[in-house]
Amino acid sequence: MDKELFRGFGYKFVDWVVEYLEQVEKYPVKSRVEPGWIKNQIPSSPPEKGEAMELIFKDFQDIILPGITHWQHPGWFAYFPANNSPPSVLAELLTAGIGAQCMIWQTSPAAAELEEVVMEWLKKMLGLPEGMEGCIQDTASTATLCALLTARERATGFQSNLKGLREPLTVYASQETHSSIEKDVKIAGFGKEYLRYIPTDDCFAMIPHKLEEAILEDKAQGFKPTCVVATIGTTSSTAVDPLEPIGEICSRHQVWLHVDAAFAGTAAILPEKREILRGAEHMDSFVFNPHKWMFTNFDCSAYFVKDPGLLIRTFEIHPEYLKTGVDAKVKNFRDWGIQLGRRFRALKLWFVIRTYGVEGLREMIREHLRLAQLFKGFVEEDPRFELMAPVNFSLVCFRFNDGRPDDRLDQINEKIIEQVNSSGRVFLTHTSLGGKYTIRMAIGQRTTREDHVRKAWDIIRESAEKVAGA
Ligand SMILES: *Cc1c(COP(=O)(O)O)cnc(C)c1O
Repeated sequence: MDKELFRGFGYKFVDWVVEYLEQVEKYPVKSRVEPGWIKNQIPSSPPEKGEAMELIFKDFQDIILPGITHWQHPGWFAYFPANNSPPSVLAELLTAGIGAQCMIWQTSPAAAELEEVVMEWLKKMLGLPEGMEGCIQDTASTATLCALLTARERATGFQSNLKGLREPLTVYASQETHSSIEKDVKIAGFGKEYLRYIPTDDCFAMIPHKLEEAILEDKAQGFKPTCVVATIGTTSSTAVDPLEPIGEICSRHQVWLHVDAAFAGTAAILPEKREILRGAEHMDSFVFNPHKWMFTNFDCSAYFVKDPGLLIRTFEIHPEYLKTGVDAKVKNFRDWGIQLGRRFRALKLWFVIRTYGVEGLREMIREHLRLAQLFKGFVEEDPRFELMAPVNFSLVCFRFNDGRPDDRLDQINEKIIEQVNSSGRVFLTHTSLGGKYTIRMAIGQRTTREDHVRKAWDIIRESAEKVAGA
């Protein structure tokens, strides 16, 4: 591609992205394509001869765009958000332009050192314990896998890296824990049967004394309790496992405490929300996702550990071709996780934090919390609806309930979501709480304003009336 063409399309695409983000509301939030619709329009073999960018871009608009679900739409209330923001997009453009692979310090000193600096910034912003050190992982799933592997090595005196896992090690998480924990337990070689799901209370938070009972029972059986994964902001309902008593139990039994705060961790930048981290001094590791609620493009997951030495000892490798003269003076992040090659992900985080400032980020988070309280009020005031969980952050769990039996309500609420989503203006997803089908209203898209939340509530009520004749 010649330089002028590159430049021309570069300007054109920047214009396109600016317009897209400005006008994203004109698209249905959830893509309406049928399975196979995209594949059927794309040749099954690659072109022998190069094609014009004009044509490629036209196909992007005609074939790809209809198959996009618009995560940056202000009517995004599904799952959790995955926010971008203008400064993050600009940084990603520069990162792509530079095209550096940042596996060790010398493969781009700026990437390694900026990563150290922004992790220190995040640590201060959230008020994490002083001694922790961090690195960027692709996702919380990967960070938790790193935690489990490090816990496994600590528990076995680094023998499982050497000989494979030879003894039964047990892992604990609440019944509300994210599915990635089970996946990671399987991958890390613990075996799914050694993952204990600890019961939760009325607020869906782990019950600490049930945790201790399970640990004692496993010890009595000759198993070695190895890791507890506590969650701050569970995926179903943003429940908060109480870190302080859980941490004390972990300390007492010398069990690794990993904290998964993938979505809700960002809220700790608010002084009034800091309490979610009470007991943080017990944490061995902690993860939260700036790519969810801190306006930084996917992927960017911040992983912190109390003892980097244990992490590095678990992952380090020293092939001759990767040795450099400065290894003793710098951080080589290849040894902080699974992948060797690494993207330059610190840049977008740096751009985001500097552009908004911590105060600007706090304002955005506070506004989402306010909108969630507003929406909670709508649900409470309407006798046909009920709240299904406490609103700890910006997620509201609720359902339509006109007194019919639960199995009928499950069907009706499922139909309500379908009806709401078919409007194209709002995208909602569901979960199950206490065995009941529950609608999740996850507020947290950067551009969601009060009128979007009000409109969503109108659409939900209209849909309920249509579905249930309410
Ligand atoms: C979203 C989420 C995850 C998974 O995050 P990834 O970064 O996609 O792996 C894990 N735990 C919790 C509590 C989450 O909300």
